[in-house]
Amino acid sequence: VRGRGKGTTGRRRRVTGAPGRTAFPEVRLRLPGWIGAFLPPRSRAYDDPEDRMRLVVALARENVERGSGGPFAAAVFDMRTGRLVAPGVNLVVAARWCGAHAEMVAFAMAQQILGSHDLGGPGMPPHELVTSVEPCAMCLGAAAWSGVRRIVCGAREEDARAIGFDEGPKMRGWKAALEGRGIEVVRDILRGEARGVLRAYRARGGIIYNGRSG
Ligand SMILES: [Zn+2]
Repeated sequence: VRGRGKGTTGRRRRVTGAPGRTAFPEVRLRLPGWIGAFLPPRSRAYDDPEDRMRLVVALARENVERGSGGPFAAAVFDMRTGRLVAPGVNLVVAARWCGAHAEMVAFAMAQQILGSHDLGGPGMPPHELVTSVEPCAMCLGAAAWSGVRRIVCGAREEDARAIGFDEGPKMRGWKAALEGRGIEVVRDILRGEARGVLRAYRARGGIIYNGRSG
């Protein structure tokens, strides 16, 4: 990643603390300011997977157009009511955190909103993750720990790779592995639209950031 834009790379954050003591920064994750106004009212129910994916793809597109992050979005929904619990967009560069993939942001937001680290905890309705692109190696791992019961994907991993993003060392048969843990996986929902956002990002010359491969 080249240091494009202010404060995206390599700027050390000053940390204050008692003299002689080691102090560390508080890590904060904040959604871009435009999201609140962009979302429909909280009472809106999203009745089917395409309806949910349409919102998620729109978030990914907006994230690109506003320049607030990469071409990826995700959201956690309550499967019983179809309501949005929390959105997430890719914030890796802005948050200076490699973990700030859209799915991770959506999990973090949903878990803070619901007051639990487990979206499948006792007394909770079933939750699903809707993501504009199939999860990478990291997000698959997080999905297994998140408590969601279903993952709905738009574009495929090869669509992300086609514009230069790396999906990481994903295990073969990941879909079956998640299903073995009781997490249903649904693919190719509005794949063309989700892929369109990836292509638009590349066409704009967006930053393609990856872990080192070797
Ligand atoms: Zn990821």
